[in-house]
Amino acid sequence: MVGQGFYRLPRVVGHRGAAASAPENTLAGLRRAHQLGVGWVEFDVKLSGDGVPIVMHDAVLERTTDGKGAVADTAYAAIRALDAGAWFGPEFAGERVPSFDEAIDLLLSHGMSANVEIKACPGRERETGAAVARRLADRWPADRPPLLLSSYAEASLEAAREVAPALPRGLLVRAVPEDWQARVERLGAVSLHCRQRDLDEATVAAVHRAGYPVLAYTVNEPERAAELFGWGVDCICSDRPEAILPLAG
Ligand code: MG
Repeated sequence: MVGQGFYRLPRVVGHRGAAASAPENTLAGLRRAHQLGVGWVEFDVKLSGDGVPIVMHDAVLERTTDGKGAVADTAYAAIRALDAGAWFGPEFAGERVPSFDEAIDLLLSHGMSANVEIKACPGRERETGAAVARRLADRWPADRPPLLLSSYAEASLEAAREVAPALPRGLLVRAVPEDWQARVERLGAVSLHCRQRDLDEATVAAVHRAGYPVLAYTVNEPERAAELFGWGVDCICSDRPEAILPLAG
C-alpha cells in the first residue's frame, strides 16, 4: 500500500502513447491515449543530430520511420521529412516524428501528463538529460504538476537534476538490482520503474518499505495487471492502457 509521503504515480500510463493502437511516439499516439481515457502517457526523448529534442525510441531510423541510419547522424530537418506512421498502418501515413516541443504542446492542449523517458543516443546521455530538463523548465507551466522524468541512464538523470532539480525523476531498471535503493537515493529519485516480468511480490514490498512507489512495464495482459496491482504495484505502463484502466480502481 502507498503510504504518506510517496510520490503519487498515476495508476495507468500509456506506453509510447498507446502503442498497440497507434504508431508509437507520435502525436497520433498521444491523441489516441487521450481518446482512450488515459491521462498519462510515457514517451521517449532523444536528440537529433543537430541537437533538437525529438520523440523517438530507437537510436536508428529504420524500425519506426521510412528513413535509414543513426538518429545521431541525422539533422532534425531530415528527420521531419520522414514518415513515422505508415509502417504501423496506412491510416497513419503522414505522421511525423514529433519534436519534444510539439509533444509538450499536445499535453498542454489536452490536459494530459507524462512520464518522459530520457532515451539518449549512446554517448549523449548528459547532453540529452540536460536538454530535456531545460525544455521543461522553460516551457512547462509552473501551475501544473511537473512531468515525471525517467531513464536507465543515471548520467541523464544527474544532468537533468543539475538543470532542473525540482523535476521528479524515476530510475528505470530491468530486473531490480541489489543496490537499487542506494542508486535511487543517490539520484534523488522519487520512484522505481521495473520490468514487469522480473518483478515479484517481495520486491514490491521491499521498495514500498523503503518509501518508493513502483511502476511496472510493459503490461498488456489484464490478468497480469491484476496480479501486479494485487501485489501493490502502484502504476502500470501499457501499450493497451484501455485494457488496464478498468482494473485500476
Ligand atoms: Mg520508454
